[in-house]
Amino acid sequence: MRASFRLGRIVGVPVGVNWSVLVIFALIWWGLSANLFPRSYPGRSGVAYLLAGLAAAVVFFLGLLAHEVSHAVVAKRNGLGVEGIMLWLFGGVAQLRGEARDPGAELRIAGVGPLVSLIIGVFFGAIAMLLGLAGVHGLLLGAMAWLAGINLLLAIFNILPAAPLDGGRLLRAAVWKATGDRTRGSVVAARAGWIFGVVLIGFGLWRFLTGAGVGGLWLALIGWFLIGAATLEERQARMGSALRGLRVAEVMTPQPQTASGEMTVADFVDNYLFAYRHTALPLTEDGRPVGLVTLDRVRGVPSDQRASTTLEAVACRAGDLVLASPDEQLTDLLPRLSECADGRALVVAEGNLVGIVSPSDISRAVQRSHLRDQVAGR
Ligand SMILES: [Zn+2]
Repeated sequence: MRASFRLGRIVGVPVGVNWSVLVIFALIWWGLSANLFPRSYPGRSGVAYLLAGLAAAVVFFLGLLAHEVSHAVVAKRNGLGVEGIMLWLFGGVAQLRGEARDPGAELRIAGVGPLVSLIIGVFFGAIAMLLGLAGVHGLLLGAMAWLAGINLLLAIFNILPAAPLDGGRLLRAAVWKATGDRTRGSVVAARAGWIFGVVLIGFGLWRFLTGAGVGGLWLALIGWFLIGAATLEERQARMGSALRGLRVAEVMTPQPQTASGEMTVADFVDNYLFAYRHTALPLTEDGRPVGLVTLDRVRGVPSDQRASTTLEAVACRAGDLVLASPDEQLTDLLPRLSECADGRALVVAEGNLVGIVSPSDISRAVQRSHLRDQVAGR
């Protein structure tokens, strides 16, 4: 899931929005102004309902953003990089780079988000209570009460002990702390996420069939998403454990053959292709990487245009390249790899290309690690 547009930066972290968040925004706005508010506070004008619904929905998303920003800030304090924050269909996500180095850091990073939602919920609850005591009853009180409820719900839902929810990370931290085994913690949390997803689907479908309407289907959809995310987390945890401790330099294919971006596709096919054993070709300029051509991209050029098309024109551009340093932990590089369509990273030292990491390099490293474990009788 990629950001469709950027909102800017908060505490140095880019904040993006995926278009799918507009669906949720519209649903909430509509639900409040066409349903909840007119039912609870009848007799106001349509514009008043629309404005109150809009204001409540905007503040709700600001609260969601505050939740994610708190994850990002604490992650940074604990030495992790933060790729960005994104709001999308299922709320918000802070995309962290690398892994927490100990259970305590994991607990702080995961726990702060629900804590912030809880504080926001209590804050609006207190305002609603004061308004009620002061005799102010109406849309303002209704909006405050709704914001209090929804933020408390957000805090509670997020601490359910199931990956990929914050509570899943707390469970992972607890198991990790108790057993000293990070991978076991991840696997337990992922399994719990899987079970929770199945329960949500069952419950949502049951609600739908007994007349709860779209809300039931929505729960089922969230359950479906949780199962997918939990499955992926378990796979990544197992892969991470096989690759932990390895540096990029130990896995990369060193000194790959390179070409100049000005070479034509025809020239490449005639003079390089058959001598070339890899499926990706870095383009360099004075040793610096400027692009990456894959055989798939070359194959996509019609044969009558090959003489007039340069490699540069079909390459993955410099801005889209995934770069790594030789000393970097491979497990830190993995989450970045999946973002690039080509699944490859170029390894750069002092500005110069020194290697390339491809999916086959990584699967070879995983196999070697399993073999080593077998030999060691583990
Ligand atoms: Zn969170």
